Amino acid sequence: ELLSLCLSRRKAEAWSVDSEMKTPLFDQKMLCKAISEQQFSLCYQPIADMNSGEIIAVEALARWNQPELGMVRPDRFIRAAEQWGLINELTLLLLDQALKQLQKWYELKLVVQLSFNLSPLSLSDTAFMQQLQHKVQQSGIKPQLICFEVTETQDFSQLSAAIESLANLRLAGFSIAIDDYGTGFANAQQLSRIPATRLKLDRSLIDGVSERSQQRLVLENTIQLAHKLGLTLIAEGVERLADAMLIKRCGIDLVQGYLYYKPLTAEDCTAVLSNSLDQQAAS
Ligand code: C2E
Ligand code: MG
Ligand code: MG
Ligand code: MG
Repeated sequence: ELLSLCLSRRKAEAWSVDSEMKTPLFDQKMLCKAISEQQFSLCYQPIADMNSGEIIAVEALARWNQPELGMVRPDRFIRAAEQWGLINELTLLLLDQALKQLQKWYELKLVVQLSFNLSPLSLSDTAFMQQLQHKVQQSGIKPQLICFEVTETQDFSQLSAAIESLANLRLAGFSIAIDDYGTGFANAQQLSRIPATRLKLDRSLIDGVSERSQQRLVLENTIQLAHKLGLTLIAEGVERLADAMLIKRCGIDLVQGYLYYKPLTAEDCTAVLSNSLDQQAAS
């Protein structure tokens, strides 16, 4: 009986997800307009060193402030932008904003690395990848201050092209992070082929790990493998203290999550960054 209840619940969830996609909140025209009118902003979520607490990077997270719909979540509009061929344009717009913010922080002597999400679709577009690098060059910001985050995808037909693009970025001095690791289908072999510097473990691997020994085993093994491959490990979505304490003992290098910082407006992030710099100076 319990099983059938679970099954029917799963069905209901699948249906509601499906129906969401069948009745989108917005159409292609609205998204085009939003891009040309620049209705987007970025939040910044600090990423901290697990041992020292020092903020070493901030991840830029897109927000769409739609005049009628209010705040639209990136989970919705990024996928739509990808489907409608608008993602590259949107990415360049957001990168512009992020670079300007980074420059402002730099002028305030708040030196922090920027982590910036790229759509996996963009990786196989070599012309776009050149544009991206050109934009950073023009801004005068050193590639060493930027980490591009890419999600592991199911689409292995594009893997070689993606690997080549990522290798180019590495060569130019950028960092690369594999995002949401543990939710996709990359195996250890593929992981070793991707020229990444960091591995971001998805929240699903982290949340509740302090209470589940099986999950802990998976985590410990993933950490060991990633470290052997020379990757820096970031735990995403850390919300609970017990989990934080456990993953620290397991050897996680960097943390990102509500327990530490939520995504912040640029203004709030400026305050947080200058505070943490003061603390470092004092200690
Ligand atoms: P992501 O790159 O994995 O970003 C982390 C997401 O986890 C963010 O959701 C962040 O707000 C959320 N998060 C952080 N800490 C916690 C926590 O402790 N608990 C929980 N429950 N969530 C936490 P957000 O901002 O809604 O973004 C969702 C996704 O949309 C991102 O996942 C990323 O894949 C995509 N995205 C966001 N901005 C961009 C962008 O500029 N370009 C591209 N291509 N994708 C983006
Ligand atoms: Mg990310
Ligand atoms: Mg992620
Ligand atoms: Mg994610």
